[in-house]
Amino acid sequence: METNYLILGASHAGLSALESIRRHDQESSLTIVTAEPDHLYSPTALPYVIAGKTSKGFMDIRKEDYFYTLNANLIKDARATGLDTAKKQVVLNHGIEINYDKLLIATGAAAWVPPVPGLDGVDYFCIRTLEDATVIRKNMTKGDSAVVIGAGFIGMHAAENLANAGLRVSVVETLDRIMPASFDAEASRRIEKVFLDKGITILTGRQVSSAGRSNGRIVLSLSDGENISADLVIVAAGISPNTGFLKGSGINCEQGIVVDERLRTSAGNVWAAGDVAAAPGFFSGSRAVGGTIPCAAEQGRTAGMDMAGDDYVTDYPGNLNMNTFGFFDNFAFSIGNIANHSSQKGSEVHSSDDPAGKPAGSPANNSFWKFVFQDNALTGVSAINCKLDPGILKQLILNKTDLSSRKEAFIKAPLEVGRQLMRELF
Ligand SMILES: Cc1cc2nc3c(=O)[nH]c(=O)nc-3n(C[C@H](O)[C@H](O)[C@H](O)COP(=O)(O)OP(=O)(O)OC[C@H]3O[C@@H](n4cnc5c(N)ncnc54)[C@H](O)[C@@H]3O)c2cc1C
Repeated sequence: METNYLILGASHAGLSALESIRRHDQESSLTIVTAEPDHLYSPTALPYVIAGKTSKGFMDIRKEDYFYTLNANLIKDARATGLDTAKKQVVLNHGIEINYDKLLIATGAAAWVPPVPGLDGVDYFCIRTLEDATVIRKNMTKGDSAVVIGAGFIGMHAAENLANAGLRVSVVETLDRIMPASFDAEASRRIEKVFLDKGITILTGRQVSSAGRSNGRIVLSLSDGENISADLVIVAAGISPNTGFLKGSGINCEQGIVVDERLRTSAGNVWAAGDVAAAPGFFSGSRAVGGTIPCAAEQGRTAGMDMAGDDYVTDYPGNLNMNTFGFFDNFAFSIGNIANHSSQKGSEVHSSDDPAGKPAGSPANNSFWKFVFQDNALTGVSAINCKLDPGILKQLILNKTDLSSRKEAFIKAPLEVGRQLMRELF
């Protein structure tokens, strides 16, 4: 089989690339491959499947006619198993060989499972696919307790859903606080308090050192000597980019596929985007997996434009941390550099737990915001239950807008002044 453009992966990164290619080139043949057997969905819907708020068939991010309209050939239920960059050929698990002119790898990531002795011998679940979420939903009523390994946003979403289903839940986290990659210490502490108030046990600064079974229950031994038992174990300890099929291809992979500012890999005519790619960071330039939808979509857009030879393509600005987290009727978000700023010269931090713009009806005692400035430009925001516009704040950070003359006004009324600044910028 021959195709001009081949996209592996039909989720946020792959679909964004497809749309960018078609904006510039409607004629060339385009094939897109997904491992999913029927529906296309976002992994962000999976907590809602576990909670029973949605299910297969109600969460499609694209319908079949979308591909027809965009003159794209969708191949479902297929996985790339090999890549020969000299032949410009991808082999699928069914044995189908696809020759491409230009290839985008957007195969995302799988859950990373820590090498805990005994863990393979007990039934545990991860949350990455619809199948994972469906199996967890089926199993969560079979017992009365659960342990979640990992307190990132996937683990904390799982903990909330399991607690809402009536299970006793414990969360084990290696680092000394929850959601360490997404929030600053103060926001983490406040989010943790909400979970503690709901009866969830949070065990930070500890690792699961071994796993086994006793009296029909799973027993996890922790690094501090404590043993905890549970009927259900969820592993949410991180992600591992889906690069296995690239073995022997010569494509440079580190934590993910190494890409430059145009999402080009080390091989000619091959791009990579989304959770499979290690792209430059917005602040540091050092490469890492973005791990969020905004990063995947923006990378896909840049890669697609570059693949199609679109003159308007610009360099990918770099991975910018952006997380939104709804939990027990609270809403938190963080953008940019909120954790590692304190030692930098020219860095300034303003925070408040009585924000003027608190939305009506938000919990009176749990509103918080923190702004970080570097040389008078906004570089980071962390907020809980505040009436702020994350989209505007992200733009101010991306544009490195100089706020010297407006900083005080901005801190007093971030929503209004942020809107005013946007009107002036665009
Ligand atoms: C439970 C959960 C909640 C999340 N919540 C949020 C959130 O609130 N906000 C946020 O920004 N991010 C969230 N994320 C992260 C976000 O979902 C990912 O960053 C995003 O989906 C990455 O998009 P992607 O296109 O790179 O990869 P994926 O969405 O992982 O898609 C990968 C695609 O590749 C296909 N594929 C895999 N292997 C192969 C192969 N060998 N051959 C061909 N195709 C293949 C898959 O079928 C799929 O189509 C969450 C993730 C999870 C798991």
